[in-house]
Parts: sequence; structure tokens; C-alpha cells
Amino acid sequence: MLFHRDRGNRELATRLRDEVEGEVLFDAASRGRYSTDASIYQVEPVGVLVPRSFDDVRAALVIARAMGVPILARGAGSSQCGQTVGAALVIDYSKHLNGIVAIDHDAMTATVEPGLVLDALNAALKPYGLWFPVDVSTSAQATLGGMAGNNSCGSRSIAYGNMVHNVVAIDALLADGTEARFARLDDMDVESARVAELVIRLHSLGMRNRDEIEKNVPSVMRRVGGYNIDIFNPRSERPYTADGNVNLAHLLVGSEGTLALTRALTVKLSPLPRHRTLGVVNFPTLHRAMQAAQHLVRLGPSAVELVDRTMIDLARGNPAFRPVIDAALVGEPEAILLVEFSSEAQEDALRGLRDLVALMGDLGLPGSVAEMVDTAKQKALWDVRKAGLNIMMSMKGDGKPVSFIEDCAVPLEHLADYVERLTGVFAKHGTRGTWYAHASVGTLHVRPILDMRRDGAGKMRAIAEEASAMVREYKGAYSGEHGDGLVRSEWVAWQFGPRLTRAFEEIKALFDPAGLLNPGKIVRPSRMDDTSLFRYPPEYAIRPLAPALDWSAWDVHHDPAANTFTAPGTGGDPARGFGKAVEMCNNNGHCRKFDAGTMCPSFRVTRDEQHLTRGRANTLRLALSGQLGADALASDDVRAAMDLCVSCKGCRRECPTGVDMAKMKIEFLAQWQRTHAMPFATKAIANLPRWAPWASRFSALFNLRNRLPSLARASERWFGLSAQRSLPAWRRDTFLGKDRAGKSPIAPDAQEVVLFVDTFSNYFEPENARAALVVLEAAGYRVSVARATSNDAEPKRPLCCGRTYLAAGLVDEARNEARRVVAALAPAAARGATIVGLEPSCLLSLRDEFLVLGLGDEAKQLAERALLIEEFLVRERRAGRLKLALSPLPEKRALVHGHCHQKAFDAFGAVREALALIPGLQVDVVETSCCGMAGSFGFEAAHYDVSQRMAELSLLPAVRAADAETIIVADGTSCRHQIADGTRSTGTREAIHCARVLEKALRPS
Ligand SMILES: Cc1cc2nc3c(=O)[nH]c(=O)nc-3n(C[C@H](O)[C@H](O)[C@H](O)COP(=O)(O)OP(=O)(O)OC[C@H]3O[C@@H](n4cnc5c(N)ncnc54)[C@H](O)[C@@H]3O)c2cc1C
Ligand code: SF4
Ligand code: SF4
Repeated sequence: MLFHRDRGNRELATRLRDEVEGEVLFDAASRGRYSTDASIYQVEPVGVLVPRSFDDVRAALVIARAMGVPILARGAGSSQCGQTVGAALVIDYSKHLNGIVAIDHDAMTATVEPGLVLDALNAALKPYGLWFPVDVSTSAQATLGGMAGNNSCGSRSIAYGNMVHNVVAIDALLADGTEARFARLDDMDVESARVAELVIRLHSLGMRNRDEIEKNVPSVMRRVGGYNIDIFNPRSERPYTADGNVNLAHLLVGSEGTLALTRALTVKLSPLPRHRTLGVVNFPTLHRAMQAAQHLVRLGPSAVELVDRTMIDLARGNPAFRPVIDAALVGEPEAILLVEFSSEAQEDALRGLRDLVALMGDLGLPGSVAEMVDTAKQKALWDVRKAGLNIMMSMKGDGKPVSFIEDCAVPLEHLADYVERLTGVFAKHGTRGTWYAHASVGTLHVRPILDMRRDGAGKMRAIAEEASAMVREYKGAYSGEHGDGLVRSEWVAWQFGPRLTRAFEEIKALFDPAGLLNPGKIVRPSRMDDTSLFRYPPEYAIRPLAPALDWSAWDVHHDPAANTFTAPGTGGDPARGFGKAVEMCNNNGHCRKFDAGTMCPSFRVTRDEQHLTRGRANTLRLALSGQLGADALASDDVRAAMDLCVSCKGCRRECPTGVDMAKMKIEFLAQWQRTHAMPFATKAIANLPRWAPWASRFSALFNLRNRLPSLARASERWFGLSAQRSLPAWRRDTFLGKDRAGKSPIAPDAQEVVLFVDTFSNYFEPENARAALVVLEAAGYRVSVARATSNDAEPKRPLCCGRTYLAAGLVDEARNEARRVVAALAPAAARGATIVGLEPSCLLSLRDEFLVLGLGDEAKQLAERALLIEEFLVRERRAGRLKLALSPLPEKRALVHGHCHQKAFDAFGAVREALALIPGLQVDVVETSCCGMAGSFGFEAAHYDVSQRMAELSLLPAVRAADAETIIVADGTSCRHQIADGTRSTGTREAIHCARVLEKALRPS
């Protein structure tokens, strides 16, 4: 039946809404957010269903089948080949269908729902000493259903195999509504005639094609293209089953959602290795590294992973990675191989390392191995390797590393030749690639840099043709890891020949005769270079825009061959760099993580694509390029996507490509204000620095709001501030009212420090500023307090960084505040003084937003000299200059929560280090994302619930669990407020600023 698009869409949405419990998303922005994965493609889905239970999936299938609408299952959407995009009803399993059904320790299996993320499974298995060892780089976001769909492989596949080697059974729903458990043939329930017939016909098809399988399926372990028809005549170097029995679940593995919808997977678990050692072999050339791989695998390692010179350099350019990678280098290698040994007994892992050292001596490279026995050091280096692709993707400009031959697998003896010849091919096409990853199994990742809006499509085909010819010559596999999708399904016939291609068609027809499931993947493909499927087709264009902030740093051209960039502002972006900044998101989905780090707090609580950094970047990109209609940037759709962004700047640091959504939110709000009237309440909060002096003077009156419930209710009605919240209490005794700077005796040659006291510290917690002053003076610095210049239009009004204006998108007003600060502090910065502040979100705006407000070189100079008090003290200590006499405190433990902006600017370590200066104080850190308060966000009634949920993720439980003898430390004003508010019902805990802890520990002189 033909599906008439618009009418059909509406009818489909209506029927779904009537019959399923889950969310039904058919609006343009939601469809846009689901139209991409980590590939170069973009195809708008018909609509999206986020099912609450598998019953929803069953119901959706019935409706879609009746209406002839294709269905596309989706996990994290991190596929690189376009497997997860298509004109279909997308079913997003990741939000609700993500449970662990059972763990069987004796059988060493786990049964899970398909939306479960690998890291979540492994966290649950750890206490049992078990793990699921297909350790993909995307382990923090990849779902087990998606991993099975793509037959994913991890770094340790040489020891554990791919998904196909580790899946025991799949419970699946077929397109006609049949449900069956696919497993070993002798375990399959064939009561149903449909299932019996399917099994018989598949078996007969397999048997008929045994000779062709022998001839045309490459005999390498890393082969994930086509369907796994070789279960009927195994060609993998590693057996699929221990006893050679055929397991039909293995046919579903790697089928990219084209054969069935997974309800549950039973997977094989492995004992968590008790001991691991790592030897990093340093090579003078990439060629020698590749030649060595075939010898290294004979030592029985659990991984052999390549990192080439470009990647080494890129990693060294990242402050977090530099010390880690430096520890692994011997001299200046052109490539390193990470060779890991895992075992039950420590001696075996150590022996592996010794054998490696001896082997490298035999191979003519004595002294080339950096040995790592310490687990923490190993993990740090693996994290750098796992970040490899993401490090590479942080390249600015229109040319990007493109994935299409990035996982060809060739037998190890040909690896060196293959790398050399392909490098020549890249050079011929005016580009280059960076090499890394799985040397152990001949699957090296490489992405040539191409500009898909211009000549990229043609070059892509030319390079693919030359690479494929080499793969054929070496009897390798064209897809050794990432599957077929839109980029490689066209190559299935090339790889497997006409007879197996027909067999694949037959398999598809046996499972899904109507072609409902993920059409166009593996069989009946489109062309890889069909530009109508590209995310950046030739007609793609950003609409002209005059941004409020300066985005010119992103507006550059990149020459891949020379690896040079043009000057800022010359990239030709009609949105003056804002467009290119938004396009930095390549959809890799790294922001979907739940474990360490900050990014992305709103997604962590809602699990909605819309509330994810990726979802926001996609929404902005679609709006800026006119794909959500005219003038969509200032639309409700974009506003809804930005609404729960708490501007924590987590993505600024943790997004591998540096998508800085907090800054983008300011830009969006500024654009929004141009066409929308600002609500009175927003304006009032933004203007706080202006009316704060009055509120302070009449603090008793203003503070009544916290005591009288009727006033709290009124503040919710008039200002949208939640009545359930207390508000920060105004103080009459402000710091700037009577600071006593310069009262302590100071040495004549003392270093100059200017204390920048922000609006919040001044009016709400002046004791923090006083503590900072006391500590700095006790340490012997010449401290002055920052004040507006006499030329300032309002010389008496305290300086302010403009944070409240930025949060409202009032960029001009924020610029005015910033100008006052620059005018007041630039002279001190120019003569070498350090500007020291207390409140992370205020002080760090001098190093961040001030630089995109068009304030010139003085702002840059100021940024270089602006430090948080802990950063300053730690810098001084490291330089051997700090003279701070501290005594033990009665409390023996400090529990510290880091402000998101501290983490984003790598400034949080300094808090721990500064507190550790106090003798006998144990400093523990709460592993938290955003506290949920985030300026005024958590005070707003509309955000109260989300704010609480963010705090309850880990911060508040940790604070509640701390004993009364523990000092709770939080440097952020709003973090402290959240902690006090959130513990009120269980016994209020007051957190204090680090400066006050240090002040308490000052030894009386
Ligand atoms: C930076 C980066 C690094 C990567 N590193 C690796 C790596 O080390 N190793 C590796 O193998 N891959 C890697 N990948 C590719 C990708 O992350 C993996 O393939 C991952 O396992 C996909 O998981 P997902 O949840 O995102 O699946 P999705 O992309 O959402 O889906 C993958 C396929 O499975 C199908 N599918 C999903 N759920 C179901 C279901 N319930 N029923 C039926 N079909 C379903 C989908 O239709 C699709 O065809 C990487 C990708 C990126 C961006
Ligand atoms: S926002 Fe960053 S982390 Fe998230 S998908 Fe985009 S590039 Fe990846
Ligand atoms: S600033 Fe924070 S909340 Fe906003 S997108 Fe980035 S990580 Fe998420």
C-alpha cells in the first residue's frame, strides 16, 4: 500500500497516540533531531516513537504495517555508516527499554533489554567479577541492541571476538508480528509454523550456498558487512559457537535492524581479568609499526592498538591528555602500539610484558617499550586512545574527517603495505588521513579529510574504489567494524558477489517480505555518494545572521593537505562563524554519557534527545540552515530545545569537538530578544546588579519573602520564582560597603593582587570575600579591591561581570558591565597584577565570555591574569612562593562539590590541592554533574522539578551521607544554596567556600 505522506503522517501519529503509552514525536524539530547519526547522512524520519514498554513496539508495528510505513529501531544513534537514519518510523529504545532482565552467574550470561548501555551493564556486572567484553569506544552510550545491530567490536576483539561471538540468543519480533527466540538450532522453539518454516528455509539456503560462502566471505575475524551467512560455513578466524552448532541469533547480529526488532538479548559474559599490563612500543616509522603487528599478536596479547604521530600531537595539544601520552613516549616516535596482556595470575601478565620487551629487542628496537603496570596509568592511556576519533574530529572548517573506508580489515602481513599505498591515494586526492586503532586484527581506522559540500562526494568514491581494490588484492574485508548502512550497503555485492547478494535478498525476504524494517540497508541499497542523502548536500546553506557574540574563531577554511587554517572570520559563514560553531557537532553521541564528568545534566534527568547537547546542536543547525522554516532560530521549537540547558559549560570541555552550548544559548537568547518582548521577571532578574544596592539597603524588607509564605507565593506568581525555594538572603553588611584591604603589614616587594568581588559574594555572602582578603594578606600579598574607575558612568556601583545579563541573552548590557570591568582592571593586569575572584561563574566569565564580546586586546590580557583564589594559591605554591601557615582543623574531612564552570576550565583540581594544604584534612570529591541550581535556573518554578532531580542524581545523597564532622565545600553560590535547600528536610547542611575553610585554618601569627 502506498503511503500518502502528509495525510499518512497525521493519521499515523493519531493512531499511535491513541494506542501506545510512549511519546509520539512528529513535529519537525523532533524529526530533524532523529534524522542524523554519526555518519555523513541526513534523512528525515516519518516520526518518532519513544516506547514505554515493548507492548508499544508491538502496537506500533501493527499500525505501521497496516499503513505501509517502514520502521527503524534506534539505540544511541552512534552508527557511523547511516544505519540509523531513514524515512521510517524511528523507535528509540534507549529511554525506557533499558533494563537488565537477568544475570545468570553459573551460565555466565546476562539477558538485557536492547536499550541498555554497555557501561551500565558492565557497572552492574563488576561486583560479580564479570564483564561483557565487547568494549567499543562508545561504551558510555552504545546500547546492546545497537551493538548487536552493527555486530560491534571492541579494542580487545583479538581476545574476545565481536558481538557475533558473544551473543547467545535474541528474542525478536518479526515484521509480520511473529515473536521468536533466535538461538542455537537445537534450542529453538519451532512450535509455530512460521518459525519452523523460517528455520528450515534459512538452513536450506545456508547449505545451498556453502561453496559460495567458502569462496566469497573473507576469512578474517573483523568482517561485519552483509548478513552473517557464514554461520552455515564459518569463515571467521574465531568460531561462532564452541561446538560448531549453528546459532540463528548470529544471523540477526549485524543485520542493522533490517530483519527483526530485538526485544531482549542474552549475551555471554567473561571473567573480568584480574591483572593487566600494558607495553607501549615506540616506532620510528608507521611502516615499522605495521610490520611489527603480525609478530606482536603471537605473544597472545588482549589488544594491540595503534596511535599515529598526528594523533599523538593532537593528544599532546590537550592539557588533560598531554601528561598521559608523554608518559608513554620514548623519544619522538612516529607511531606507538599499545600492547596489552590480561590474565588471572599477575605473573602471566608480567611475563607478557617481559616477552614483549625481548621481542622488540629481537626486532631491532631495544629500549622502545614504555612499561605500564599501574592500572590507573593504563586506564588513562586507554582513555586517550578511546578519545582518538573524537580528538581528530575537533578540526574546524568545512573539511572534516569522513568515515567510509575507516574499518577495512586486511590480513596482518599486508598491513604495512596497505597503509603506505592508501596514504599515497589520499595524497593524490589532495588530502590526508590519521591512522589509529585495532592493529591486532588488521582494522585500522583512517578518515580522509573531505569537504562534503564541495568536491567531497567525488573524492569519496574515487578513494573508496582504490581502497576496495587493495582490500580485494589482500583478501581482506571492506567493512571490518562499522557495518554497511548507507555508506557501504552498495559495496555488499562487490564484496560478496552476485550469488551471495541474491542469498542476502532471500534472507531479507524470508524475515521481512514487505521490506518494512530499515529499508535500503544491506540489501536494495542507495549509492554512497547520493548527495540527496547528505547532511551537507551541495544546496545546504546557513542563512545570513548578525550574531550578538563574536564567533569568528570558527569561521575559517582548512587546507587538509597542508593542515593549515585561514585567519578567523575568513571562512565565508553567512552567520559569521555561529553556523560553523554549531556544525562542529558530528552527532557522535558522546554527550549521552551518564557516568563521569558534567555533560549533559539535563539529558541525565530527562533522557530526551531534545535535552541533549547533540539534540540542541542539531536543532540550531536545522534552524540556522532554514530546515525548520523561515526565521526558525527564534522559534518556540528552538526555545524548547534550549530551555533545560543549564549553561553548565560541561560540553565546552567534554564534547570532543568543543560544542559550547552555554555560549550558544546566550546567542540564541540574544536572537530571541530581537523579536520577542522580554518578560518583566526575566528583565528584573537580569538587572539585579543595578537594583542590588537598594535591596541591600532594605534587606530586612526584601528578606521577608523567605519568611512569609504569602510573599513566596506572590514571587512565584509575579516573578516565576518557585515558592518552594528559599531565595538568597540580602545583606546590609556588604563587603564593598567597608572593605579593609591593605590594612595588614605588607612587605615592600609583595606581589600585587586585585580582588574582584562579584555581585553575589558582595551582597549575599560578604564573609567569603572577607575570608579571601584575610587569606591573601596572611600569605603576604599586596591586595587591593577592584572598584569602578572614576571615569565610569556609575563610579559608585560595584563592578559586575554581567553574568545575569548573559543568562538572559542581554548581550549589550553584559558588554557594558564587562567594559566597566576591563576599564577598571586592565591597567593592573598590564602591570602584572593577578586578578583573583571567588565565584567561578563570575571570575571565569573574564576568561570566557569577555573574549567574545568584542572588547579587544585589553580583555585578552585581563583573561590571562584572572584566576580563582584556589588557582592562584596553587600556582604560587607550585612556584615555591606561597607562604601560608595553616593549622589542622577540628574537622578531619572535607567533601567537595565542584562548580561546573570550575570543571569546564580545569580549575577544580586547584580546589582539592588548596584544601590539601591544610594539615590532616582528608579531601574527598563528590562525583557530580551540575548541582541543578545553575544561577537562577533552579529558582524558577518552571525548572524546580528538573533542578531537584539533577541535585538528587549524586550531590544531595552524598551530602546527606556525610557525617556532621565533615565540612561540605562548594565554591558556587548557587551550589551552596542548592545544598542547603535540598537538605532542609533531613537536617540542613551548609556548604562553605574554600576560602573560608582556609581562613579557618590560618595559624594565628
Ligand atoms: C566516536 C565513535 C567511536 C566508535 N567506536 C566504535 C568501536 O570501537 N567499535 C565499534 O564496533 N563501533 C564503534 N562505533 C560505532 C557505534 O558506536 C557502534 O556501532 C555502537 O555499537 C552502536 O550503538 P548504538 O546504540 O548507537 O546503535 P544505533 O546506532 O542506534 O543502532 C545501530 C544499528 O542497530 C539497530 N538496532 C538498534 N536497536 C535495535 C533493536 N532493538 N532491534 C533491532 N535493531 C536495532 C539500528 O537499526 C541500527 O541499524 C563508534 C562510533 C563513534 C561515533
Ligand atoms: S554535542 Fe559534542 S558530544 Fe554531543 S554529539 Fe555533538 S559532537 Fe558529540
Ligand atoms: S551547557 Fe551543560 S546543560 Fe547545556 S548543553 Fe552543555 S552540558 Fe548540557
